[in-house]
Amino acid sequence: MNKATTSSNRHYILQSGDFQRLLDSIIGNGYRCLGPTVQDQAIVLDDVSSVKDLPVGWSDNQQAAAYRLQKNGSPAFFGYVLGPGSWKKFLYPARERLLTTTRSRSGWKAEASAEPVQKMAFLGIRPCELQALAVLDKVLLEGTYADPVYRARRSQILVIAVNCAEVGGTCFCDSMSTGPKAVSGFDLALTEIITDGKHHFVVESATAKGDEIVKLAHGVSASDQEISKADAVSTAAAKKLSKKLNTIGVKDLLARNLTHPRWKETAGRCLTCSNCTLVCPTCFCITVEDYTDLKGNSAERVRRWDSCFTMDHSYIHGGSIRNTPDSRYRQWLTHKFSSWWEQYGISGCVGCGRCITWCPAAIDVTEEIQAIRDSEKT
Ligand code: SF4
Ligand code: SF4
Repeated sequence: MNKATTSSNRHYILQSGDFQRLLDSIIGNGYRCLGPTVQDQAIVLDDVSSVKDLPVGWSDNQQAAAYRLQKNGSPAFFGYVLGPGSWKKFLYPARERLLTTTRSRSGWKAEASAEPVQKMAFLGIRPCELQALAVLDKVLLEGTYADPVYRARRSQILVIAVNCAEVGGTCFCDSMSTGPKAVSGFDLALTEIITDGKHHFVVESATAKGDEIVKLAHGVSASDQEISKADAVSTAAAKKLSKKLNTIGVKDLLARNLTHPRWKETAGRCLTCSNCTLVCPTCFCITVEDYTDLKGNSAERVRRWDSCFTMDHSYIHGGSIRNTPDSRYRQWLTHKFSSWWEQYGISGCVGCGRCITWCPAAIDVTEEIQAIRDSEKT
């Protein structure tokens, strides 16, 4: 998988009529192809083997606490912005068996769970989500506690990004320098272009595997003029972004306001439901649980996603450290935008806006940070 884009990247044109060939070439190369589908009135990442599986002609309307999928009659394959689920679920699943123990006549036998690793293609990953993978890589691949399960899956993925032509009402990727155009971390990056009754993709390839896949799909070299058209799509998308976050000094701003009254005010609305952490593409907190069968002959150890919004997450020695909603909301926001920098040298937020769209109380991280910033001026 490519780590960095260089000026040596190759550009191709792929006609929309050849898109099925692209899917066939991905699958023919042994990948499980995952991409956007329409399920339960939302964009859901799932298996894709045919153009018919893609959300052709669907767009999404997103605002704080609001998400609506709607048919817009466009021939676009990728005319939506983001669904609730992120790619994290394929690399770092919500529930994962770590260990199985079984009793036999000679005693207990413990076996680490070793599910076979499947080659996966992520088709349609957005630029902000590429950065989310880079953030997860920092957390789960570097340092003393690298995660072998994540590492095994991550090493096998083919990344086919799609640059954003549309933006959501909750996106703020440009404030976080993560979009709306992909600059690194992909094998292929597609820009969908529909003009004058023509429908095609400009495909930027950063790796030899990307070249192979796109050539098998009958991609042909793109002219400078076609590449400029693709750049114009990203420039136009950036202009549509209305939500902004002033990130100047945000790490220190939050760190010096840990007793700010705003935490309590916001906690008065927060349901501590944990939606924001579950939809966030970079949240990685887990808990570990053991289960035994009723006969006591076997047991398994499982890890599952947890959230800093639960009381149990900070429970030690007979009590929860963060036992109030305001302490838990503060933990979430300050970790994403402040202490993440200290831990990993990077922001924990990529500006995807999911936590705003899916918060039932319409709590908006950009408004919360701005309110604290504004309070220092008075
Ligand atoms: S901020 Fe919103 S989504 Fe997050 S825990 Fe509170 S109510 Fe739930
Ligand atoms: S904190 Fe919110 S906007 Fe930032 S990456 Fe997580 S879900 Fe997206």
